[in-house]
Amino acid sequence: MQNYLNFIDGEWVPAHSGKTYQTFNPADTRQCLGSFPDSDAADVEAAVEAAARAYERWRLVPAPKRAEILFRAAELLVQRKEPFARQMTEEMGKVLKETRGDVQEAIDMSYFMAGEGRRLYGQTTPAELPSKFAMSIRQSVGVCGLITPWNFPMAIPSWKLMPALVCGNTCVIKPAESTPISAINLVKTLQEAGLPKGVVNLVCGHGPQVGAPIVTHPKVRVVSFTGSTEVGRLVAQAAAPTFKHCHMEMGGKNVIMVLDDADIDLAVEGAVWGGFGTTGQRCTAASRVVVHRKVYQEFAEKFVSRARKIKVGNGLDETVEMGPSHSESQMQTVLNYIEIGKGEAELLTGGSRLTEGDLRYGYFIEPTIFGNVPPTARIAQEEIFGPVVALIPCDSLEEAIAIGNGVEYGLSAAIYTRDVNRAFIAMRDMYTGIFYVNSSTIGAEVHLPFGGTKNTGNGHREAGIAALDIFSEWKSIYIDYSGRLQKAQIDEYKGE
Ligand code: NAD
Repeated sequence: MQNYLNFIDGEWVPAHSGKTYQTFNPADTRQCLGSFPDSDAADVEAAVEAAARAYERWRLVPAPKRAEILFRAAELLVQRKEPFARQMTEEMGKVLKETRGDVQEAIDMSYFMAGEGRRLYGQTTPAELPSKFAMSIRQSVGVCGLITPWNFPMAIPSWKLMPALVCGNTCVIKPAESTPISAINLVKTLQEAGLPKGVVNLVCGHGPQVGAPIVTHPKVRVVSFTGSTEVGRLVAQAAAPTFKHCHMEMGGKNVIMVLDDADIDLAVEGAVWGGFGTTGQRCTAASRVVVHRKVYQEFAEKFVSRARKIKVGNGLDETVEMGPSHSESQMQTVLNYIEIGKGEAELLTGGSRLTEGDLRYGYFIEPTIFGNVPPTARIAQEEIFGPVVALIPCDSLEEAIAIGNGVEYGLSAAIYTRDVNRAFIAMRDMYTGIFYVNSSTIGAEVHLPFGGTKNTGNGHREAGIAALDIFSEWKSIYIDYSGRLQKAQIDEYKGE
């Protein structure tokens, strides 16, 4: 069994307390993946102090030079994509095709933010007084505390680390307790790419013991959190008294709307990918499909038939299409929702844990579809985070949009229609951060803003150049070269 360590001030070290914990493969819990430091506030203290010291040098490194390190990290990630993907399948559970995609997202983000090192644009603008120059620049903020979930164990850490670093900040990252290996792989790669000591620090461990002290630490100036809405609320409250920049990416209850003029086969493929890709454990998963009554029957039959053919198993097998739930507690949550669903709607397929052969050693659940689900049902309102899809009939575009918007979250939505007018109406009226036409709710690209409205987010966006707004602050600069005191708003311009 491999012993993994924290990364603090350029050294790989155990927890101060010496305590450790282990992780296991969710597809086969007989496989222990390693032991990790069970860290606490003392380890966070050391990591934040190291980051604070490193900040004074790192912020002065020219941004294009900082970016070159990110570029080298991207090149190394390309070489290591396959072994990193395999390790990720073992620790997270999703199939190899998807873990390769997760590493690819980290590669894309690293290249993208490397390019940003030669931009980081501000504005130059005329001043209202003569012989005066005005501009705005982005300045770094300081130590960033990054807290990440288990479902995208390398992509999400990269979404936070790369923009934070290119802006000149230093970081303390706390990966999800159950998927630290992928974050460790990413940080090791940054180290080998030449990142100076203390610029990135990684502390393994649990939320209350490691995440909470990061959020309240007075030297942490930015908190970027991705996870559940429940924990996000605690994090935002804890960060508020010290006025930290606080960026939150949280839960989703995303919708695919299938209109009566849709290409039904295409919509079915989108619903299968959105509902069962990553075993439904994506914040952008399509856990609701609202279908026009005129095509409801046809869609439901084709969707159920396609779902029944999905091969479920260990994601390391290239022929497997869907892996396990990530943990025992996640599996229990999903099974509980299935029981709730049975009392609320019609179970069309699935509904059980899979225990045949070696599957009994993992957390496997059948692809599950409920039909004729009332929009107010709990399975149509609450984030399940598993392979469970609610089919909801509707009579019009307007009703589909009302149902689509009728949840507490606002991350992603999709419409299948051949009518450009209806597509544009939905694009205008769906209050979500991401919208797709004739494509599933999944498929974000790193150079566009990513995030959601309502209980999904607090107004920030990660990815794209929008991410720079989380990790930098604007400074407006006025340079008066008139040689006299000039007063904005008070002096009257009379010509020179
Ligand atoms: P979670 O909220 O349980 O944990 C997220 C992180 O917060 C983990 O690292 C955890 O250890 C830490 N944490 C727990 N308690 C904490 C505390 N008191 N203080 C500080 N940190 C604490 O979420 P999860 O189960 O890891 O991930 C699944 C959730 O993440 C889902 O709700 C999903 O929708 C959401 N998610 C959202 C996005 C997005 O971009 N909107 C992306 C991926 C996942």
